[in-house]
Amino acid sequence: MPFSLSSPYQAALPGDRSGNLASRPTPGVAWASAAPTPVKAPRALAVSPHVAALLGVDLSSLGSQEVLEMLSGNRVWPGSEPFAMAYGGHQFGGWAGQLGDGRAIVLGTHTSARGDRHELQLKGAGRTAYSRRGDGRAVLRSSLREFACSEAMHFLGVPTTRALSLVLTGDQVMRDMFYDGNAAYEPGAIVCRVAPSFVRFGHFELPRAVGDVELLRTLVDHVIDTHYPAIASRYAGEEKICAFFHEVAERTARLVVHWMRVGFVHGVLNTDNMSILGLTLDYGPYGFVEDFDAAFTPNTTDRESRRYCYGAQPHIGSWNVERLAVALQPLVTSPKPLLEGIDRFANVYDAEAMRMLASKFGFDEHRGDGDTALVSEAFDWLKRLELDFTIFFRRLASLDEKAPSVEAVEAAAYKPDLLHAEREGFAAWLERYAARLRENREDRTAVRATMNATNPRIVFRNYLAQEAIDDVMQGSTAKLDALMHALERPYDDGPAQAAFDALRPEWARVRAGCSMLSCSS
Ligand code: AMP
Ligand code: MG
Repeated sequence: MPFSLSSPYQAALPGDRSGNLASRPTPGVAWASAAPTPVKAPRALAVSPHVAALLGVDLSSLGSQEVLEMLSGNRVWPGSEPFAMAYGGHQFGGWAGQLGDGRAIVLGTHTSARGDRHELQLKGAGRTAYSRRGDGRAVLRSSLREFACSEAMHFLGVPTTRALSLVLTGDQVMRDMFYDGNAAYEPGAIVCRVAPSFVRFGHFELPRAVGDVELLRTLVDHVIDTHYPAIASRYAGEEKICAFFHEVAERTARLVVHWMRVGFVHGVLNTDNMSILGLTLDYGPYGFVEDFDAAFTPNTTDRESRRYCYGAQPHIGSWNVERLAVALQPLVTSPKPLLEGIDRFANVYDAEAMRMLASKFGFDEHRGDGDTALVSEAFDWLKRLELDFTIFFRRLASLDEKAPSVEAVEAAAYKPDLLHAEREGFAAWLERYAARLRENREDRTAVRATMNATNPRIVFRNYLAQEAIDDVMQGSTAKLDALMHALERPYDDGPAQAAFDALRPEWARVRAGCSMLSCSS
């Protein structure tokens, strides 16, 4: 058996062992047993060799029928008592009550030979007590998107949950992709997700909302003792809780800075999608910014309010951290340390974002208002000229600072005519930018290296995801494999990356799945 599974979460927290999969409130417990519902004909589409290595499991064993049965939920691992976790959450700004793992089932925690603990979850493995009106299943398109993007994000250097496997179930799943009454069958799939913990802000909000302070305290103690051992050993009582909150606020701020750096838009930053470890969690209608617009959201459900658009993510991160503070409040006597934790988010965000922007633009240090103006005008130009976020920043490193030319970033233009029409104004910005580069004390080669380690050459664009999905629907994983291979080194300039270093093609501007996505997955 390649996995050795235990469950510290189940051991530490009260649960409902009835095995009842009927949707219901589960007051007083943090989890409910949920055996995966067997599937017809599981077939592995992809396995991440990197996650296999992380777990310390042999890849060849992952190809065995026995393991395939486990990764599809058809066989329960010895020692494992699969369960779904209870949590609540604020969705689109309003309290949504109990939510919980409606289509994710925890198999248990695997401890690698090195002693690292990784929780294994099957997403799409069938109904749980928290499925509400859902079917507990996931479709191929959303599963492939989660599998590939979580790995891509890892290699971009962004904290994230990981994915071990992507399995087709052989069953069909009914989905109304556009919420327009035209439901259709799609192939079902299951992703095996891996993270030290999938606990969310919403885990704490639920017991707080129903006044179950005892469960709240047990949950906080468990999470700190298990996942923040340095805090557990240094602090006690209220100090421990506040140190934990400050750490979560800080990790969340750093996470949002990474998203802003690579142009990632999560799409559904509800508090039930916020990881207590500061990881990117729950890949749904996400997207990477292409023709730059701070108001860009890939999520059709959010098209009106744009609550979760690219530019709103720092504010939403802070708002969500505030919700966590409110959840923890019954455990502390004074609100002051919690308020300081919320400030910590802002302070860390501001400092890290400034550093990140300096690296993106190739400034050896931040030199006050002049730099701030250059940066903010750059984003104005990106929007006005419809320049591609990823390609623009990558090309900026090759600008000749002694003779800057618009041609250096021309490859980023979705509308070359627009660029040429506004050429003079943009060239004036480029000239000022080049002058600033000439003031750097660090030499140009070192600055370029920093820029190229900050600005990826390629990202997991939605149209690339869609092409890989279309290919799999035709029975081939060739595109997915090539894409995953290139995305293992997104900062490289090799031929694998060159193949995906291109503007989003015109056909993808309007095609579903390529620019806009729904939550229906
Ligand atoms: P999400 O929008 O994926 O973050 O999900 C929000 C909530 O809806 C979570 O409690 C999910 O477990 C639940 N959910 C989403 N899709 C399904 C589904 N197909 N079946 C059951 N529950 C679901
Ligand atoms: Mg979710």
